[in-house]
Amino acid sequence: MYLQPVVRCKNRDCPMPSAARIRLPYPNPPATGENPPAWPQDAWQLRMICRECDHWYLYDKKDIQWAPYTRPLEEETRVDFLCVELGCGEPGCHSRTRWHVLDNSQMSEIEALEFVLRADPVAVCENGHPFSISGTASSSVRKASSV
Ligand SMILES: [Zn+2]
Ligand SMILES: [Zn+2]
Repeated sequence: MYLQPVVRCKNRDCPMPSAARIRLPYPNPPATGENPPAWPQDAWQLRMICRECDHWYLYDKKDIQWAPYTRPLEEETRVDFLCVELGCGEPGCHSRTRWHVLDNSQMSEIEALEFVLRADPVAVCENGHPFSISGTASSSVRKASSV
């Protein structure tokens, strides 16, 4: 068994069972019984979109818990931890933001991109520009093995 970092969806109305958690990738996870790593750093932040309710929130260090799993996340075949990076299309903005989802449906790159762009509330860049209005200057989708 391996310890894996997890977060709980912050949407009180999320249909996900209250005991369920969203797993995050962590390279070379410790075995259960060991002390959880001193991770992440204080300034760490993560934009995570819940697959169950489409709500996104910023998660930080205090949201992280550790839970035991049989296999590391990257060895699971039925789920993919996806990172969608968006460049803001607002003239002069140039910000890039990363959006994450633990997918259980083998989304294509296009589907992953659309999933981010229809998240609730509307996805905004670091400077507050809604992608639905400003558009995206660039986008990429990849599987992430760390966050
Ligand atoms: Zn949720
Ligand atoms: Zn922007």
